[in-house]
Amino acid sequence: MAQVPSLDQFRHVVVKVGSSLLVDSVRGAIKQAWLDALVEDIAALHGRGASVTVVSSGAVALGRTVAGLPKGKLKLEDSQASAAIGQIALSSAWSQALRGHGIVAGQVLVTLRDTEVRRRYLNARATLGRLIAMRAIPIINENDTVATSEIRYGDNDRLAARVATMASADLLVLLSDVAGLYDSPPSDNAQAQFLPVVERVTPEIEAMAGGAASELSRGGMRTKIEAARIATSAGTHMIIADGRIAHPIARVAAGGRCTWFLTPSNPVAARKIWIGGSLELKGTVFVDAGAAAALARGKSLLPAGVTRIEGAFSRGDCVAICDERGAEIGRGLIAFDALHAERIRGRKSRDIAHLLGAPGPAEMIHRDDMTLGGR
Ligand code: GLU
Repeated sequence: MAQVPSLDQFRHVVVKVGSSLLVDSVRGAIKQAWLDALVEDIAALHGRGASVTVVSSGAVALGRTVAGLPKGKLKLEDSQASAAIGQIALSSAWSQALRGHGIVAGQVLVTLRDTEVRRRYLNARATLGRLIAMRAIPIINENDTVATSEIRYGDNDRLAARVATMASADLLVLLSDVAGLYDSPPSDNAQAQFLPVVERVTPEIEAMAGGAASELSRGGMRTKIEAARIATSAGTHMIIADGRIAHPIARVAAGGRCTWFLTPSNPVAARKIWIGGSLELKGTVFVDAGAAAALARGKSLLPAGVTRIEGAFSRGDCVAICDERGAEIGRGLIAFDALHAERIRGRKSRDIAHLLGAPGPAEMIHRDDMTLGGR
């Protein structure tokens, strides 16, 4: 069996919390003691210098009791209204619990489009990046109140996986009301075997997931396996761990039972492969010899080194990077629209705000968004 990594090697951990763990469905209230214990675990990760992002479900579960809605499946507009009511309580519970450890929380509500449309993806990624840089903890949920059925995640497992890949997190922990993955649903089969490590999400692994979902939460094992596929193919390791106990993260850190989904890659390397291989080129930036040499040393591309621009690209599009003779030396996701890139090429990064009328990134193409010579 493959060796599993140790929890203290991870630099950015996304923790996903399921509704049934956090919300007492009878009272329609937060399970405060459980949340406080989890927040202690999170504060410990944060305290040793790791970045933490939380994806928390529970808005609908909290709101529906307050709204006096009956048990069972809700109509879309009822679940949206419940989410509107519950999200306020949900965020404030997280914010207060973290404040007790001197940690600031920031609420981020996202829709499917925010993670799938390139421009919005970049904006969401930049906001998460700023919150993380400020040492705040983003508390994320789907914006259920505006997400309509065709264009929503509907489950926070896959949302958390997309958030983790978007934020280049190196670990995603799904806390749920199951202990991990079994080779068949344990509810149907007493002989079901627990799987502590999954080295690759294969069709056989996908077939092991039953369809189970409880009344409070949307995701069953199927959405968790889908989350594992998204995370591991983007270089993020994933864990499914039992959240029904106090201090679930400390328990995993101490070697407690959970299922690891391993990735052979890391978030930056996986992004680079994706950039190098699968994108349509929307334009070209030509760079001078000094910039070409800086890129070869692993630096980002600054506007000062760009001599010419071709193509009608938008911010976030993939462009070729060519040297002065026109030979392609790499590819990358450009941080500016063609119009703005043209305006700032050849200029110092500190002049960007003045040239564009608003502050922008210092790099034309960030080194994490770039691949050189097919590497
Ligand atoms: N966004 C939903 C909520 O906060 C939860 C979705 C899920 O359970 O995965 O209630």
